[in-house]
Amino acid sequence: MNNLDPEVARDPEHLVVYGGRGKAARSWRDFEAIVAALRGLGEEETLLVQSGKAVGVFPTHADAPRVLIVNAMVVPKWATDDIFWDLEARGLTMYGQMTAGSWIYIGTQGILQGTFETLAALARTEFGAPDLAGRWFLSSGLGEMGGAQPLATTMLGGVALIVDVDPRAIERRLKGRYLDEKAADLDDALEQVQRAVAAREPRSVGLLGNAADVFPEILRRKITPDVVSDQTAAHDLMVGYIPRGYTVEQAAEARRKDPVAYRLGVQASIALEARAILGLRARGAKAFDYGNNFRTQAREAGVADAFDIEGYVPRYIRPLFEVGSGPFRWVALSGEANDIARIDRLLLSEFGQDEHLARWIRLAAEKVKFQGLPARICYMGYGERERFGHRVNDLVRDGELSAPIAIGRDHHDTGSVASPYRETEAMRDGSDAIADWPILNALLNVASGATWVSVHHGGGTGIGNSIHAGLVVVADGTPEADRRLGRTLHNDPGLGVARHADAGYPASLELAARAKFRIPRR
Ligand code: NAD
Repeated sequence: MNNLDPEVARDPEHLVVYGGRGKAARSWRDFEAIVAALRGLGEEETLLVQSGKAVGVFPTHADAPRVLIVNAMVVPKWATDDIFWDLEARGLTMYGQMTAGSWIYIGTQGILQGTFETLAALARTEFGAPDLAGRWFLSSGLGEMGGAQPLATTMLGGVALIVDVDPRAIERRLKGRYLDEKAADLDDALEQVQRAVAAREPRSVGLLGNAADVFPEILRRKITPDVVSDQTAAHDLMVGYIPRGYTVEQAAEARRKDPVAYRLGVQASIALEARAILGLRARGAKAFDYGNNFRTQAREAGVADAFDIEGYVPRYIRPLFEVGSGPFRWVALSGEANDIARIDRLLLSEFGQDEHLARWIRLAAEKVKFQGLPARICYMGYGERERFGHRVNDLVRDGELSAPIAIGRDHHDTGSVASPYRETEAMRDGSDAIADWPILNALLNVASGATWVSVHHGGGTGIGNSIHAGLVVVADGTPEADRRLGRTLHNDPGLGVARHADAGYPASLELAARAKFRIPRR
């Protein structure tokens, strides 16, 4: 219900939560059937959900999950867009994205925090700095996900110049205060950026324009940003990337009239932008691909060295995954913002020595508007999540929180996903496409007593490209919940450490050697 709250979901009428067509239930009839089954569910029963449809309630036991979910799984040879979407149209399956069909999406706070974490890791890796103070970031795209870029940059003290071809995207981000300013033109934009960088002041500037024009022009002027990326919806050539010379409306018309010529125009523009990014990179800018398949499209458009632009996971996020750290989140089932504020205080007092975490929590409390049930997200690692879970359960037990808390995470996490274009790109041992791990992850979370567990196919990078798992565990203040929280919140990130240790990452091997789990010798 929270995933489909009008404040949370992108298109609740069609049950679409986020990420293209990522849905929470197959149809409204299925939604009603799921809700009815949950209302009548006994404490020793488990509901099975097959791609958004309730298919059975089975006798289990109190420590077993109350719901088991599998979404969009097809036999590998059938895992193509054409076959999958045909099966979907025939009502046989549902695309669940990552947290849409597993019921733990919390709105735009997720991508804001993910972008904040990526840029913070970039600052540490590239500049040996805790933040982006005195640095500037050039990117494009102020859409659903890309719109988080300016605010994440300023939260880290940096300066962002974000180009978007759609004036509505700029206005929307100004209105939501994700973006500080709109520039009159490129001269004005660069002047504002240079002034803010010199003063080391956080500032974000939106510029109306096409990245395929603006990026090459910045290169031509011999101006070099510290960081450069692209967050247009380039994964979808037909609608996600507007070719140069067109407004959004003109592009819609051109694509309808002559799709083949339109597509060629898109590819030519992507190639121009990619060459500019590579040129800026050659002059010292730190360039990265932020999971929109930009490099693949550029390579197909003829930019042979597009993959010199590194993926954000291998370069920035993997070191976090190696130590079991990933996007962890919790939701106040009371609907009371005060419950989240109380947990924010708990984090600051118990985990406040982690300056990066404390910075996020303070800024999120100030800047994030809740959507649907109040929630909070942050990256937490092996050991920390378990400690946090016990403390939250104590607060529920002691009446300091007004209702139970649902604790979960994204499928984009340390031990829960196989996705060779994103989370498992360029694994040290070449195990990018090995998908045993997310299945083991789901099985382990079932054995550990999570409240609901999910396995999905195709989230993030699309059908055929990923397999991933999720869990949610509810802290209701009881001793039974405390044991389940301890097991799941230890084992789930623990498996991430084991997965990376198996791939030979030294930090994971070192952490595994002193962990509560064991890796058998061979
Ligand atoms: P969106 O469709 O909501 O927004 C895309 C924006 O790009 C639009 O505002 C559009 O006007 C603008 N744009 C298109 N072509 C342009 C051009 N040539 N120049 C300037 N602006 C242009 O998409 P979104 O939800 O923001 O997602 C962006 C991409 O990020 C997608 O490819 C998505 O798959 C990917 N993504 C990555 C992650 C991650 O974790 N890294 C997460 C989610 C999504």
